[in-house]
Amino acid sequence: KRIITTESLEEDIKIENNLRPQMLEDYIGQEKAKKMLKIYIKAARERGESLDHVLLYGPPGLGKTTLAGIIANEMGVNIKITSGPAIEKPGEIAAILNNLQEGDVLFVDEIHRLNRQVEEVLYPAMEDYVIDIVIGKGAGARSIRLDLPKFTLVGATTRAGMLTAPLRDRFGVVNRLEFYNENELKTIILRSAQVLGVEIDGKGAAELARRSRGTPRLANRLLKRVRDFAQVKYDGVITKEVADLALDLLDVDKYGLDYVDRNILTTMIQKFSGGPVGLETLAASIGEDAGTIEDVYEPYLLKNGFIQRTPRGRVVTDLAYHHLALE
Ligand code: ADP
Repeated sequence: KRIITTESLEEDIKIENNLRPQMLEDYIGQEKAKKMLKIYIKAARERGESLDHVLLYGPPGLGKTTLAGIIANEMGVNIKITSGPAIEKPGEIAAILNNLQEGDVLFVDEIHRLNRQVEEVLYPAMEDYVIDIVIGKGAGARSIRLDLPKFTLVGATTRAGMLTAPLRDRFGVVNRLEFYNENELKTIILRSAQVLGVEIDGKGAAELARRSRGTPRLANRLLKRVRDFAQVKYDGVITKEVADLALDLLDVDKYGLDYVDRNILTTMIQKFSGGPVGLETLAASIGEDAGTIEDVYEPYLLKNGFIQRTPRGRVVTDLAYHHLALE
């Protein structure tokens, strides 16, 4: 596993729960989403109603699960957490819904992976707080309608485009989470260090922030790894020098790129004269799946201007040549 993967790793689980901010005011960045949610939460509370359903979308590790928890805390209700692939049958989602308390938040991660039958249970549940249950089989089957408590569905997805239209339309609040800038990441790192009792100075935090690919999950993971390094090799304090040494050793470079990213860029430069090269050709050349390149590796390289997409394929930019010190 790449240390810079933004998917949650086994090693993250323990500290992630400790590091999650509990209230909106401790949630760093995402100003647009926060501003909107503040208003909706306040209005719902004043009316004594449940909050409208919320859809959060954006890349992994940007704080969707965290925000769902904060919404529940701010509303003063419980949260029940599940995920699209975990719910296989209509009866399972019906049971989950039926067990909610008035006002509760139901968080469904990877909501684009719900199957069709399960999704169909959600439509009337979201719209009218009812579910229709079929009892019996064949000619004797009949449907009965059950009232549900008023709840708030918070759905999270990395791929908003994969949501069906009827599901998407049932969310009253839709928020896209953005990558964090270095200042915001630095603030998150300093806060996490405080929670974990790690000593770090401003320059050390800035260096970690620079290499964290805009992603809090990664910032926290790198902090944890560098802490171990500081503890064993130095006097426990993370300075810029310690951060530089540790991150170089972990093979996370100045831009947060690792060997996989650099291999893609180097291959494009050395085998294809910098491009344009088609996705399939590139994939075959580095022995990777084209879909993985497109979904996992490429977005960060595109976003940071190392490569560009053209109608004839991908090309590397001057920044890539410069960064890899290649002619
Ligand atoms: P997602 O659900 O989008 O994959 P998570 O909510 O699990 O991401 O966040 C991953 C980690 O990053 C958590 O440990 C969380 O504490 C931290 N984190 C995410 N967003 C923020 C934020 N805005 N402020 C502080 N920490 C954050």
